[in-house]
Amino acid sequence: MNNKPFVLVVEDDSAVRNLMSTTLQTHNYRYITAATGEAAILQASSQNPDIILLDLGLPDMDGVDIIKKIRTWSNVPIIVISARSEDTDKITALDAGADDYITKPFSVEELLARLRVTLRRMGTNVKQEDAIFTNGELRIDYSAGCAYLSDDELHLTPIEYKILCLLSRNIGKVLTHTYITKEIWGSTLESDVSSLRVFMATLRKKIEKNTNSPQYIQTHVGVGYRMIRV
Ligand code: CA
Repeated sequence: MNNKPFVLVVEDDSAVRNLMSTTLQTHNYRYITAATGEAAILQASSQNPDIILLDLGLPDMDGVDIIKKIRTWSNVPIIVISARSEDTDKITALDAGADDYITKPFSVEELLARLRVTLRRMGTNVKQEDAIFTNGELRIDYSAGCAYLSDDELHLTPIEYKILCLLSRNIGKVLTHTYITKEIWGSTLESDVSSLRVFMATLRKKIEKNTNSPQYIQTHVGVGYRMIRV
Protein backbone atom coordinates (compact mmCIF):
# COMPACT_ATOMS: atom_id res chain seq x y z
CA MET A 1 0.00 0.00 0.00
CA ASN A 2 1.49 3.28 -1.12
CA ASN A 3 0.23 6.20 0.94
CA LYS A 4 2.08 9.02 -0.78
CA PRO A 5 -0.56 11.50 -1.94
CA PHE A 6 -1.36 11.04 -5.62
CA VAL A 7 -1.58 14.30 -7.58
CA LEU A 8 -2.95 14.95 -11.05
CA VAL A 9 -1.16 17.94 -12.60
CA VAL A 10 -3.09 19.57 -15.45
CA GLU A 11 -0.98 22.16 -17.25
CA ASP A 12 -0.31 22.76 -20.94
CA ASP A 13 2.87 24.80 -20.43
CA SER A 14 5.62 22.19 -20.32
CA ALA A 15 8.04 24.39 -18.32
CA VAL A 16 5.49 24.93 -15.55
CA ARG A 17 4.42 21.28 -15.72
CA ASN A 18 8.03 20.14 -15.31
CA LEU A 19 8.57 22.51 -12.40
CA MET A 20 5.49 21.14 -10.65
CA SER A 21 6.42 17.53 -11.38
CA THR A 22 9.95 17.99 -10.03
CA THR A 23 8.62 19.71 -6.93
CA LEU A 24 6.15 16.91 -6.27
CA GLN A 25 8.71 14.20 -6.87
CA THR A 26 11.24 15.72 -4.47
CA HIS A 27 8.58 16.21 -1.78
CA ASN A 28 7.27 12.69 -1.60
CA TYR A 29 4.20 12.93 -3.80
CA ARG A 30 3.22 10.62 -6.61
CA TYR A 31 1.87 12.35 -9.69
CA ILE A 32 0.56 12.03 -13.21
CA THR A 33 0.25 14.84 -15.71
CA ALA A 34 -2.16 15.94 -18.38
CA ALA A 35 -1.61 18.72 -20.93
CA THR A 36 -5.18 19.05 -22.19
CA GLY A 37 -8.65 19.21 -20.72
CA GLU A 38 -9.68 16.02 -22.43
CA ALA A 39 -6.69 14.14 -20.99
CA ALA A 40 -7.39 15.68 -17.56
CA ILE A 41 -10.96 14.37 -17.48
CA LEU A 42 -9.82 10.94 -18.64
CA GLN A 43 -7.06 10.78 -16.01
CA ALA A 44 -9.34 12.09 -13.26
CA SER A 45 -11.90 9.37 -13.97
CA SER A 46 -9.52 6.47 -14.58
CA GLN A 47 -6.62 7.15 -12.15
CA ASN A 48 -8.56 8.29 -9.07
CA PRO A 49 -6.12 11.04 -7.90
CA ASP A 50 -6.17 12.34 -4.30
CA ILE A 51 -5.97 15.92 -5.50
CA ILE A 52 -5.94 17.83 -8.80
CA LEU A 53 -3.83 20.88 -9.66
CA LEU A 54 -5.65 22.48 -12.56
CA ASP A 55 -4.43 25.23 -14.86
CA LEU A 56 -7.46 27.26 -15.95
CA GLY A 57 -6.08 28.24 -19.35
CA LEU A 58 -5.88 25.07 -21.44
CA PRO A 59 -5.85 24.86 -25.24
CA ASP A 60 -8.91 22.67 -25.72
CA MET A 61 -11.27 23.42 -22.85
CA ASP A 62 -12.00 26.06 -20.25
CA GLY A 63 -10.76 24.97 -16.82
CA VAL A 64 -14.11 25.89 -15.28
CA ASP A 65 -15.89 23.42 -17.58
CA ILE A 66 -13.42 20.75 -16.48
CA ILE A 67 -14.28 21.42 -12.83
CA LYS A 68 -18.00 21.20 -13.59
CA LYS A 69 -17.52 17.89 -15.43
CA ILE A 70 -15.40 16.34 -12.67
CA ARG A 71 -17.86 17.52 -10.01
CA THR A 72 -20.63 15.50 -11.64
CA TRP A 73 -19.02 12.34 -10.28
CA SER A 74 -16.26 13.29 -7.83
CA ASN A 75 -15.49 15.47 -4.80
CA VAL A 76 -11.73 15.16 -5.31
CA PRO A 77 -10.08 18.38 -4.11
CA ILE A 78 -9.18 20.72 -6.97
CA ILE A 79 -6.69 23.57 -6.64
CA VAL A 80 -6.96 25.95 -9.54
CA ILE A 81 -3.81 27.49 -10.96
CA SER A 82 -4.35 30.59 -13.00
CA ALA A 83 -2.12 33.05 -14.79
CA ARG A 84 -5.07 35.34 -15.04
CA SER A 85 -4.97 37.69 -12.15
CA GLU A 86 -8.61 38.71 -12.46
CA ASP A 87 -10.61 37.75 -9.43
CA THR A 88 -13.59 36.80 -11.58
CA ASP A 89 -11.79 33.71 -12.91
CA LYS A 90 -10.96 32.49 -9.43
CA ILE A 91 -14.48 33.21 -8.25
CA THR A 92 -16.06 31.36 -11.18
CA ALA A 93 -13.77 28.39 -10.52
CA LEU A 94 -14.54 28.36 -6.78
CA ASP A 95 -18.26 28.62 -7.45
CA ALA A 96 -17.96 25.73 -9.93
CA GLY A 97 -16.54 23.59 -7.11
CA ALA A 98 -12.79 24.26 -6.89
CA ASP A 99 -11.38 24.12 -3.35
CA ASP A 100 -8.61 26.68 -3.56
CA TYR A 101 -6.58 28.70 -6.03
CA ILE A 102 -3.00 29.73 -6.70
CA THR A 103 -2.09 32.64 -8.94
CA LYS A 104 0.86 32.39 -11.33
CA PRO A 105 3.69 33.08 -10.84
CA PHE A 106 3.77 31.07 -7.62
CA SER A 107 6.63 29.78 -5.50
CA VAL A 108 7.35 26.12 -4.84
CA GLU A 109 6.73 26.79 -1.12
CA GLU A 110 3.31 28.24 -1.89
CA LEU A 111 2.38 25.23 -4.02
CA LEU A 112 3.45 22.79 -1.30
CA ALA A 113 1.65 24.76 1.40
CA ARG A 114 -1.63 24.73 -0.54
CA LEU A 115 -1.32 21.01 -1.16
CA ARG A 116 -0.73 20.35 2.53
CA VAL A 117 -3.67 22.50 3.63
CA THR A 118 -6.08 20.92 1.19
CA LEU A 119 -4.99 17.34 1.87
CA ARG A 120 -5.19 17.97 5.61
CA ARG A 121 -8.70 19.27 5.17
CA MET A 122 -9.67 16.05 3.39
CA GLY A 123 -8.12 14.01 6.21
CA THR A 124 -10.12 15.82 8.85
CA ASN A 125 -13.22 16.39 6.83
CA VAL A 126 -16.20 17.67 8.77
CA LYS A 127 -19.06 15.25 8.44
CA GLN A 128 -22.37 16.94 7.88
CA GLU A 129 -23.95 14.77 10.57
CA ASP A 130 -21.40 15.71 13.26
CA ALA A 131 -23.27 17.55 16.00
CA ILE A 132 -20.29 19.27 17.59
CA PHE A 133 -17.59 21.19 15.76
CA THR A 134 -14.35 22.22 17.43
CA ASN A 135 -11.48 24.30 16.11
CA GLY A 136 -8.98 25.62 18.65
CA GLU A 137 -11.01 27.35 21.33
CA LEU A 138 -14.04 27.61 19.12
CA ARG A 139 -16.85 25.11 19.56
CA ILE A 140 -20.19 24.95 17.83
CA ASP A 141 -23.04 22.75 18.99
CA TYR A 142 -25.06 22.58 15.77
CA SER A 143 -28.00 20.75 17.28
CA ALA A 144 -28.36 23.22 20.16
CA GLY A 145 -27.65 26.19 17.88
CA CYS A 146 -24.96 27.54 20.21
CA ALA A 147 -21.34 28.56 19.76
CA TYR A 148 -18.67 28.86 22.42
CA LEU A 149 -15.20 30.31 22.76
CA SER A 150 -13.15 28.69 25.53
CA ASP A 151 -16.42 27.43 27.03
CA ASP A 152 -18.00 30.89 27.15
CA GLU A 153 -21.16 31.05 25.12
CA LEU A 154 -20.92 33.52 22.25
CA HIS A 155 -23.80 35.94 21.85
CA LEU A 156 -24.23 35.84 18.11
CA THR A 157 -27.03 37.26 16.02
CA PRO A 158 -28.86 34.68 13.85
CA ILE A 159 -26.99 35.89 10.75
CA GLU A 160 -23.59 35.80 12.47
CA TYR A 161 -24.35 32.29 13.67
CA LYS A 162 -25.36 31.17 10.18
CA ILE A 163 -22.18 32.61 8.67
CA LEU A 164 -20.05 30.93 11.34
CA CYS A 165 -21.76 27.56 10.73
CA LEU A 166 -21.36 27.85 6.97
CA LEU A 167 -17.63 28.61 7.26
CA SER A 168 -17.10 25.83 9.82
CA ARG A 169 -18.92 23.23 7.71
CA ASN A 170 -16.54 24.17 4.88
CA ILE A 171 -13.39 24.56 6.95
CA GLY A 172 -10.28 24.93 4.79
CA LYS A 173 -12.23 25.94 1.72
CA VAL A 174 -12.44 29.44 0.29
CA LEU A 175 -16.10 30.41 0.04
CA THR A 176 -16.87 33.20 -2.40
CA HIS A 177 -18.97 36.23 -1.47
CA THR A 178 -21.62 35.04 -3.92
CA TYR A 179 -21.74 31.57 -2.42
CA ILE A 180 -22.06 32.91 1.12
CA THR A 181 -24.75 35.49 0.34
CA LYS A 182 -26.70 32.86 -1.61
CA GLU A 183 -26.56 30.49 1.36
CA ILE A 184 -27.36 33.14 3.98
CA TRP A 185 -29.82 35.43 2.22
CA GLY A 186 -30.76 33.41 -0.84
CA SER A 187 -29.61 36.20 -3.10
CA THR A 188 -26.50 37.50 -4.81
CA LEU A 189 -27.14 41.24 -4.75
CA GLU A 190 -24.12 43.50 -4.45
CA SER A 191 -25.76 45.09 -1.37
CA ASP A 192 -25.66 41.69 0.34
CA VAL A 193 -21.90 41.52 -0.17
CA SER A 194 -21.65 44.83 1.71
CA SER A 195 -23.89 43.46 4.46
CA LEU A 196 -21.72 40.35 4.60
CA ARG A 197 -18.65 42.53 5.28
CA VAL A 198 -20.47 44.21 8.14
CA PHE A 199 -21.60 40.92 9.69
CA MET A 200 -18.13 39.47 9.23
CA ALA A 201 -16.65 42.43 11.12
CA THR A 202 -19.04 41.98 14.04
CA LEU A 203 -18.59 38.21 14.04
CA ARG A 204 -14.82 38.61 14.12
CA LYS A 205 -15.00 40.96 17.08
CA LYS A 206 -16.69 38.15 18.96
CA ILE A 207 -14.43 35.25 17.98
CA GLU A 208 -11.02 36.69 17.13
CA LYS A 209 -8.52 37.78 19.78
CA ASN A 210 -6.99 40.25 17.35
CA THR A 211 -9.26 41.33 14.50
CA ASN A 212 -6.28 42.83 12.65
CA SER A 213 -4.70 39.42 12.35
CA PRO A 214 -7.60 36.99 12.49
CA GLN A 215 -6.88 33.44 13.57
CA TYR A 216 -10.06 31.67 12.49
CA ILE A 217 -11.39 33.44 9.43
CA GLN A 218 -9.13 34.54 6.57
CA THR A 219 -10.13 37.29 4.15
CA HIS A 220 -9.47 36.69 0.47
CA VAL A 221 -9.69 40.22 -0.85
CA GLY A 222 -12.18 40.49 -3.70
CA VAL A 223 -12.94 36.75 -3.51
CA GLY A 224 -14.38 35.64 -0.18
CA TYR A 225 -13.56 34.06 3.19
CA ARG A 226 -12.13 30.85 4.56
CA MET A 227 -12.09 29.32 8.03
CA ILE A 228 -8.72 27.78 8.79
CA ARG A 229 -7.98 25.03 11.25
CA VAL A 230 -5.90 26.49 14.08
CA1 CA B 1 -2.02 27.35 -19.59
